[in-house]
Amino acid sequence: MEHLSEMMGGDQRFLKRINRLKILNTLRSKGPLSKTQLARLSGLNNKTITNIIEYLIKKGIVTSVGLLKTDEGRKKEHFKLNSDYCFSIGIDLGASHISAILINLEGKILLKKTFNFRFGLKKDIVLEKIFALAQSLIEEAKDKLEKIIGIGFTAPGFFDIKRGVWEEAVNIKDWKQVPIKKLLEERFNKKVYLEDCSRSMALGELWYGKGKDIKDFILLDLGQGIGCGIVINGILLEGKGLKAGEIGHLIIDENGPVCTCGNRGCLEACASGRALVSKVQEEIRKGQKTKIYDLVNGKVDEITLQDVIEAASLQDSFAIEVLEEAGHRIGRVVSFLINIFNPPLIVLGGQLSISGKHFTGSLIETARKYSMAKIFKETEIKISNLGPFGAALGAATIAIQETLFTL
Ligand SMILES: [Zn+2]
Repeated sequence: MEHLSEMMGGDQRFLKRINRLKILNTLRSKGPLSKTQLARLSGLNNKTITNIIEYLIKKGIVTSVGLLKTDEGRKKEHFKLNSDYCFSIGIDLGASHISAILINLEGKILLKKTFNFRFGLKKDIVLEKIFALAQSLIEEAKDKLEKIIGIGFTAPGFFDIKRGVWEEAVNIKDWKQVPIKKLLEERFNKKVYLEDCSRSMALGELWYGKGKDIKDFILLDLGQGIGCGIVINGILLEGKGLKAGEIGHLIIDENGPVCTCGNRGCLEACASGRALVSKVQEEIRKGQKTKIYDLVNGKVDEITLQDVIEAASLQDSFAIEVLEEAGHRIGRVVSFLINIFNPPLIVLGGQLSISGKHFTGSLIETARKYSMAKIFKETEIKISNLGPFGAALGAATIAIQETLFTL
């Protein structure tokens, strides 16, 4: 069993597993809960709830916390997850960072590690760093080693889930056809699960963030690259070849810069964090005056997105203009998503989403202007609060979900 979506059959056992997972996820996001509350929140009947809770207690995944007062004022037995039942590791390889976390069954991040690097780092060094981060997590969590049930790995680009190969990570130099699943499994002797980074962020949002109580939403991953995860009816849209959500490669300017995908003028080539930095460097070299230059002491090669954001917060008009333009361009694509999906919620994630009002204001204003007024009114746009570990959190949770599903 490799992926939840691959198992969408219709037999009784499958239904049982889905119901069990529903109860576990409800307990995780809202527990402790009584059986009555669980029935109300999950839509399952009391008998099913009782059977499932008995089974989960026997397995040691759920525990009783005794009698607690309910909303109606009566005391009833409440249940919660046994958060130490199992643990999982999430590794997020980005364009300029590697993050690794250890989470418990409830999705709480117990340990986190990050390594930041500059673009252009070679694949072998990146791989070494990935191993080193995972190794240091495992060493620190030695007492939990037996209970670490898997590793979720996420990166941008394309992967082949059957072969466990990450075929391409456009942001990492010479990263082609890397058998990452095998490499990690052999090294750590844990089962490894793969998922794209924007979709992992959407899963993080679905399980722990702004998407927790909503069935349909779109997560925009606005960082060094641009992507999105589309959740419909509580299920992440993956597409035929696990490539759904590549909004970063919608062409918005036929005469724009060449993109890492080979096309010209993709949204990612014009408005991602990396594109903004390139643009800023180019303009400064042409003589543009800006506080960004002072922030890096004239070392134009070392400019990062954070410098652009900081200059904008210091009212630097050039930095503000760059962020507003990016917001405008991404906002246009958001208006397409709004018209196509009529989503109740769009969550903005990634470093650009927390770059301040110039970017988000311009994004929302353009999305409003270019989408149909009636549809826009039905769409809320919120900023993610999962922080920089959102993708790693989503990836780590895949391992937990798969384990719980096959109990
Ligand atoms: Zn592209």
